[in-house]
Amino acid sequence: MTTTQAAASTSTTIRWVCGACGQPAESGAVHVDFGSVVAAQQAAKEWDARSHSLSAFDLADVFTMPARAQWKVTCGECLQQQHDCGGCYEIGLSQVPTFTALLRWQAHLYDKSWFDATNWVAFVHRLAQEHAPHESAGAW
Ligand SMILES: [Zn+2]
Ligand SMILES: [Zn+2]
Repeated sequence: MTTTQAAASTSTTIRWVCGACGQPAESGAVHVDFGSVVAAQQAAKEWDARSHSLSAFDLADVFTMPARAQWKVTCGECLQQQHDCGGCYEIGLSQVPTFTALLRWQAHLYDKSWFDATNWVAFVHRLAQEHAPHESAGAW
């Protein structure tokens, strides 16, 4: 196997790390709290209404853009001890062992009305960046 092939195959397996304890997560989930999704949707709606009523685009308004609901990675142990979502959308880590599987989930999530209220794109970008920083085009 050439070095290029090795790099390509290892970059497809996701090394999940728990956001709570910082340890590699074998079991656990990628999840987003529905409470924060609803709050983000509501805030975005209000922000939209406000910014559309302005006659000229105000750059300062961009900085008041509401935050999106954050996707989190939590290992099985931490989920048992401190899962404080009020209810959440959860993808078991065993269901997303590779970037291909994650991409498949993304296609599914994209149909959700609340997809845009979450930071999925930034989440995936950071994940890709951590796994293959050498592939970065440097545009971000
Ligand atoms: Zn953990
Ligand atoms: Zn949760």
